[in-house]
Amino acid sequence: MVEQLPAPVGAGIYNVYTGAQAGSAVPTAAQLGLEPPRFCAECGRRMVVQVRPDGWWAQCSRHGHVDSKDLETQR
Ligand SMILES: [Zn+2]
Repeated sequence: MVEQLPAPVGAGIYNVYTGAQAGSAVPTAAQLGLEPPRFCAECGRRMVVQVRPDGWWAQCSRHGHVDSKDLETQR
């Protein structure tokens, strides 16, 4: 089962950690809690990422802003 994640982390087109075309591997919210994404899953652009002590946020210039707190509310 694929969880419902915002497009910049859940689209599954690009690997959010490597920026390579992914095809399948969509990280779970739990994985994303441990390691912030670096690339937009929908367009493969490098995202602006800010890591905080309690989480992170990441921003794609086209697909918007994702905050780890938003993912936690979906669990
Ligand atoms: Zn994007």
